[in-house]
Amino acid sequence: MSVITKAKAFLFREPENKNEPVKTAVVLRVSCMAFMLYLLFLSIGSIRIGCSYGIGLGLLFLVFNAAVFACTYRDLFHITFLLFNVSTVAWVILSFVLFGEAAGSHHFILALILVDLLLARRHPALIISGLYAVRVLLYLYSTWNEPPAQFESGVRIGLYTLSLALEYATVLFSGIYFTKDAFQMEVRLQEYNEELRHVASTDPLTKVWNRFRMLEHVQKQLKKYKKGEMLFMSVAIGDIDFFKRVNDTYGHECGDEVLRRLARLFDEKTRGIGAVARWGGEEFLFLFENMNGDEAWTALSGIQRNLNKLEIPYGEQVLHVTMTFGLSEYDFKRSLDENIKLADDKLYQGKEGGRDRIIY
Ligand code: GH3
Ligand code: MG
Ligand code: MG
Repeated sequence: MSVITKAKAFLFREPENKNEPVKTAVVLRVSCMAFMLYLLFLSIGSIRIGCSYGIGLGLLFLVFNAAVFACTYRDLFHITFLLFNVSTVAWVILSFVLFGEAAGSHHFILALILVDLLLARRHPALIISGLYAVRVLLYLYSTWNEPPAQFESGVRIGLYTLSLALEYATVLFSGIYFTKDAFQMEVRLQEYNEELRHVASTDPLTKVWNRFRMLEHVQKQLKKYKKGEMLFMSVAIGDIDFFKRVNDTYGHECGDEVLRRLARLFDEKTRGIGAVARWGGEEFLFLFENMNGDEAWTALSGIQRNLNKLEIPYGEQVLHVTMTFGLSEYDFKRSLDENIKLADDKLYQGKEGGRDRIIY
């Protein structure tokens, strides 16, 4: 493994608690590292101006932040988050009092605002308002007070530029890392939702719509009718004739194959004119959209002709099946259940009358 790969693995390593999203830990780690880098330079700058409390405080906060960094690998999100906030705010206040705005430490307040906005789980508005208040108070303080320690101009420019660069880097990294993640999550959720919807609305054996999906679709069509976008609709129920015999003679697996093959035929033949669903065991429900009863009868007769010609190979055998259909034009004054019942009653008349027919 190269050094870069190792460093990446170290930075993006999952925290101990697997329920804790790694992204919160990574944002805290990057913020901590930026802050530590700044503290290191500040300690060096303090050595140059011989400011002993600058060196002491710089190193103290450096060690403290190293501990906070280490905590991001443990199951301690709340403590890490709190300690990072406290140490940043405490440092910014102290450094303002000691060195004034010249040290540039106030830039870490803005970076902290973004980090808190992304990570705070409780009272984010309150925390961010608090940080804003600290920033304003520091500004007011600096306008009335001269800092006791002054950096030489090279160190001052270096520190100020460094703090700006680190603030910029932290904000950029956290923003991109978080939004990229959120965007990917949203895409994944959308795909997952789509998959769930597909599973919930498809009959697993025949892959055509199930009853639930068909009912949802009919409701949509009824809305179209109410808006005047559709004038007619017809509904039919078809039931395979003597299907039990197919199962008894050739086996249940063969019966399944027949159902799959018929579903494929119906799916093809209803495309563009309506919809089909597996309504129950060996029953299919057909919806003919924008078609009155006569038109639907013509369409359904075509489907029946195709069905009667259909050869279903199964092992050595070639099977033929017939179906009986009950068809009725949708009566919009009646409920959906009543309309389906009308078609169902006709289907049973067809069964009584000898099967292999459409009763309309
Ligand atoms: P009819 O002409 O009166 O409709 O006769 P039928 O034999 O089709 O009617 P019956 O209701 O007696 O039998 C329906 C059969 O459909 C019984 C059941 O085992 C079978 N069946 C229902 N669902 C499935 C399925 O998913 N796979 C298979 N292979 N058979 C099924
Ligand atoms: Mg049946
Ligand atoms: Mg049957």
